[in-house]
Parts: sequence; structure tokens; C-alpha cells
Amino acid sequence: MGDILFSSWGKSIIDNRGKKDQDLEKQTTIELPEYFTENKKIKALMGWNGIVIRSPEVDIVDLCRGYIEAVLSHSKTCDRCNYCKTGWKEMIEVLQDIAKGEATGEDIEFMGSAAEAIVSNAKCSIGKIGPSPFLQALKYFSDDFAQAAKGAKPVIPGTYYSKLTAPCIDACPIHLDIPKYIEHIKDTKFAESIKVIRERLPLPGTVGRVCFRPCETHCRRALVDEPVSIKGLKRFVADHELKEGKEPAPEVTPSAKTGKVAIVGCGPAGITCAFHLAVKGHNITLFERLAEPGGMSAVGIPDYRLPRNILQREVEQLKRMGVTLIYNHTIGKETKLSQLENDFDAVFVGIGAQESLPLAIEGENEKIKGFFTGLNYLKEINEGLDPYPQGKKATVIGGGNVAIDCARSLLRTNKESVNLIYRRTRSEMPSDSAEIHDAEQEQVNFHFLTAPKRILAENGRVTGLECIRMKLGEPDKSGRPRPMPVEGSEFIFECDTIISAIGQKIDLSFLEGIEGVQTSPWNTMVVDEFTKQSSRPKLFFAGDCETGPDALITACAGGRKAAQSIDRMINQIPLEYETEHYFDKLFKIVNVYDPKEEIKKVEPRKRLHAKALPPEIRKSNFDEVESGFSAQEAVSEAERCLRCYQVITVAV
Ligand SMILES: Cc1cc2nc3c(=O)[nH]c(=O)nc-3n(C[C@H](O)[C@H](O)[C@H](O)COP(=O)(O)OP(=O)(O)OC[C@H]3O[C@@H](n4cnc5c(N)ncnc54)[C@H](O)[C@@H]3O)c2cc1C
Repeated sequence: MGDILFSSWGKSIIDNRGKKDQDLEKQTTIELPEYFTENKKIKALMGWNGIVIRSPEVDIVDLCRGYIEAVLSHSKTCDRCNYCKTGWKEMIEVLQDIAKGEATGEDIEFMGSAAEAIVSNAKCSIGKIGPSPFLQALKYFSDDFAQAAKGAKPVIPGTYYSKLTAPCIDACPIHLDIPKYIEHIKDTKFAESIKVIRERLPLPGTVGRVCFRPCETHCRRALVDEPVSIKGLKRFVADHELKEGKEPAPEVTPSAKTGKVAIVGCGPAGITCAFHLAVKGHNITLFERLAEPGGMSAVGIPDYRLPRNILQREVEQLKRMGVTLIYNHTIGKETKLSQLENDFDAVFVGIGAQESLPLAIEGENEKIKGFFTGLNYLKEINEGLDPYPQGKKATVIGGGNVAIDCARSLLRTNKESVNLIYRRTRSEMPSDSAEIHDAEQEQVNFHFLTAPKRILAENGRVTGLECIRMKLGEPDKSGRPRPMPVEGSEFIFECDTIISAIGQKIDLSFLEGIEGVQTSPWNTMVVDEFTKQSSRPKLFFAGDCETGPDALITACAGGRKAAQSIDRMINQIPLEYETEHYFDKLFKIVNVYDPKEEIKKVEPRKRLHAKALPPEIRKSNFDEVESGFSAQEAVSEAERCLRCYQVITVAV
């Protein structure tokens, strides 16, 4: 990139001002895209990792004003540190004087000292990291400040977009304001905390139990000791509300115009979409093919991880908000999608990925007694049944969460042995590592580098599974090493139960009679990444049917985006991208989390782990394994949060 005038991004300085073309240095610490929005070029950037200036039109003094005003507006919401409260404001006042050409050298020095005082006294990143690009501006653009201060160079106002984020917020697909809800827990304001979560997520008790925690993998506290138990804190506020006997009561603020919306599928995507539309006063009818709500969180995830009553209570709030729930109603059968499209102002479809991928091996036949797909097996388990009580030796095939849930459920239905085979090694397993650990503790026998070859059956019953050893080769399309069979290494697992859990796919039969809806080569629904609108304007899709099998929080995020778009469409507002979407794109390039960052002056303090039933006790029943934090524990864990808010300003 030859268009860099100045950059301090990532602590390396490039200063191309006044240089000839052949001497221009290239930018290596960041690969900024040319555009912020479709038609707005990025001229400069100022944020936690430095400054990048591309265009000579950028006025550094005004850019600093834009950035500091954004920081100030966010630091106001905190009000914790005096230096932050007053320091940023004083800097703005001086910058305004500079813009009028009415400031002195001492004023500029004062701004530097104020910024340094904030750094040394602030309790969170807004104050500890926020001033750093401004201090760099003062150092490397001192002449620009001096000239402007005495009126020798006019300050030219620019156009800026700013955003407050944090590594955890950015990593969370629905962008929960995690530092904010944790801060409320620190202050024992538990009701305020759950209110912050519900601004985006209607399922805090559910997600607080089974989320894969992308936020925790980007928690800066891990760079000191261990990540904050963000999931546990979310669960705590939901459980606290339940214990207090309070019902969730989200406020409904109707949009200028409200309409009639159909939602297909009562999984996390559909529930979240319904919730956000109901908050805006729309008239919602939700169609679900099963007799109960929750999708995979109800009929997939077993009770020992997510008790049913938690999910059901969170769905009840939809009814109180006026959503009509119609169960045992399959769209595509009882009612056609085309009819919904005619009868409603918009239709959201969140039907998930309901079908199991076949193993495609000899002997695979769902009619053989003792052979099950993981989804069918778990559905029965979640209805309180053991689908095959006569089976005693079970083998599960697969490495994801469905496979682990099957294996742990099998143990809980009194099997003599439960084996799990996976064709790669433990480190490539897609399942949550905490789940693998728990399954190991409960004595699921893992067999890595092993693939199924043939199902053996006699008299219509499973008698064994022929397997072959594997070795790892070069990475495949997924980036993981390709498993390759070791010739002549076949062997037989004696077992009477086989569960195949190697993946899920989307059942597209509901589309019958609808023309022109785009699907991908993987049979997922093709929609706009941010608006979730399909090629038919009234149809919106999100959740697993859009992304392929993923996670609760991703499905909820998709449902929320679709609800925003549907609300706009009903209000005849063009479905343009919101600034949040452009920042989402930018943050994929400008990393908000730096795993190599060195964090100083923070006393290490161990993470609190939720208590769990001992493996010998828990593996004989479906009781919930983990118990939540007490109020005292939650406050103590919340105190470990470093509140890593950061601001970025883009000049366009
Ligand atoms: C066993 C298992 C364990 C998992 N564990 C975790 C975990 O620990 N953490 C995590 O984050 N994620 C987990 N997941 C993934 C997570 O459950 C899914 O990503 C999430 O539920 C997807 O939400 P969704 O709303 O898109 O679809 P779903 O949850 O699948 O919901 C879709 C709903 O649509 C209904 N439906 C389908 N077709 C029709 C139709 N034609 N008409 C009407 N209704 C219809 C279905 O019955 C269902 O209720 C797990 C998944 C499984 C299967």
C-alpha cells in the first residue's frame, strides 16, 4: 500500500510526509480496505492501536477532536474516574480554542499532561489506552498543532464515524455490551445487568448455560491470568431474576408503523426475531412444527446442560408480549410458504438444520435395531425416553457437540461402555473443549484417528462396527489436516448400539412452490449478510438454515438483524447497512483483540469456576451438572473484568 502518509499503527512508525515516490514506505501492520461504506473512502483511522493517515486532506487537529469527542461521549456513561470525567472535556475545550486559532503552546502542553494523567489514573481501557493515539498525534504532528493554535493554519472539519467496542463485544456475534452488564454486577445491580443483556438477547438463562463463549476466547483478562467467566455471569443474573420470582418484562416501544409478520421455526433465531419485532409492537405469529419451543436447544441439548424450564420461561415472555405461538404446524405441509408470503407483510424463516448427514458406509440403515442418527436419538432422550434400553455397548461416530451429547446421554442411560470414534485427533475436534473434558471425566472412551467402514448386523440388529485407523495428511479445505486411511488397519468394535453424529443439513422441502429463492451449493439459504433479506424481498432467513450448523448465539444474532430489517421494511425505510455493519467488517481487519498484548499493573487473580456435580454422581442421571454462582461469587468474579472498552474513529 503506497497511499500511507503516516502510520503509528501497531507501534511501528511510517512517516511518508514530504517523501519522493521511490522512498515511500509500505504499510505492513494493517491492511486497511479502501472503502468504509460502498462509496466512502477511508481517509484516516484513529484508535487503540495508533493512527493511520492516507489522505493529505485529513486535518490531524480535527481528527483528534472527532476521536476525543467520541471517547468523551462514551466515557460519560461510566462516570467512575474523575480524571476521565474532566480530562477529556478539558482537551476538547483546548482543541476548540486551537480551531479558533486562539490557543498557546502551554495549552497544547496542558492537553498532553491531561492525556498522561488519564493514562496513569484511569481504571479501565478508555482511560488507559484511549489517550495513546492522541499523544502520538501531539508528538508527530506538533507543528500542525502549533500552527493551528496561533491561527496560521485553518482547521478543516472532517466527516467521521466512531464506534465504541471491546474485544469481548466484538467477538460476541450479537455484540452484547459485556463490560456494561458485568459492571452492573460489580455494583450488585443485577436487574440493570439483565436489562442490558435483554437489549439484544432474549435468552440469557439459556445462552448463559450453553454458549460456546467466543467472548471468553477474546477476553483480555486471559493475558494476565484466565478469562473472566462471562458465560457464568450471564447465567447468574438470569438465575437471580428467576429466584426473585420476577418475570422478564421487556418494554414495548411501537415503531411508527407496525405490521403483520410470520415467523417459521421457534428455535433461537425465530425466538430472537420474534422478540425484537414484538418490542417494536409488530403483530407476530410464530409457526413451529414440533409441540414445543426452543429448536435444538430443547430437543438437541440434553437437560444435564440446559434444563427445560429455563428455556420455557424465556419463551413465555414472547406470549406476554403478544406473540401468537402455533405448535405442531409445519410450513410446507399444513401451510405453504407462498401463502405466508401473501398473507403477511414479511416472513422470517429460522428452520435450522434438522437432518443428519449420512455416514455413507456399507450397512447404514436406520431400520436396523440399535442404529440411530444423533438428532433422532437426542430427541427421544429429551422426551425422557431411552430409545434402545436393550443396548449396553455403544459406539458414537463424530467429533462435534452432537456426538459428545449423545455419548454423555448414553452413559446416563446405564450403558456398560460408551466409545466415541473420531477420524482426526483431539485437537481438531470441533466440539467445545469443556464438553470433551467433562465427557472424559465421565469415562466416555475416546478413540481418535479412527473412521467407520461398515456396520455389522445380524437378524436386523447391530452387532458391531468395522473401523479403520487413520493418519493425518496435508490440510484440507477446512484448514484441518486431512485424515487418510492406514491400509490394512481394519478392526472391529463389538457393540450393539451405533449413533451417527457427523453433521447436519437443511431440509429445503418447505420451499416447494416458491420460485427464485437462492440457495448455496451446501443447501443453505443465501441472504444478504447484514439485512438477512433473501432474493425474494418479503422473505428473510437466519440461524443454522443460513450459516449451516453453528451456535445459539450466532442464530440469535441473525434473528436480531432480520428483525431490524423487517421493522425498516414495514416502515418503508430502505434496507441500507447500518454503521454497525460497516464497523463489523472493519473490525475483521483491524483486530480489536491482540493476543500478544502485554498487560501491566494488574494483580493476577484466579477465575472462579462454577461448581459441578462429581462425575460418578452426575453420570447416572440427567440433573444439571453445573450450578451457578452465588451473588457473592458473581460480584467477586465481575471484579476481575478489566472493562476493555476502546474507541475507533474513521475519517471518510
Ligand atoms: C445436540 C446439539 C447440541 C448443541 N449444543 C450447543 C451448545 O452447547 N451451544 C451452542 O451455542 N450451540 C449448540 N448447538 C447448536 C445450536 O443448537 C444451533 O446452532 C441453534 O439451535 C440454531 O438455531 P436455529 O433457530 O437456527 O435452529 P433450530 O434450533 O434448529 O430451530 C429451528 C426450529 O424450526 C422448526 N422447524 C423446522 N422446519 C420447520 C417448518 N417447515 N415449519 C415450522 N417449523 C419448522 C424446528 O422444529 C425447530 O424448532 C447444538 C446443536 C445440537 C444439535
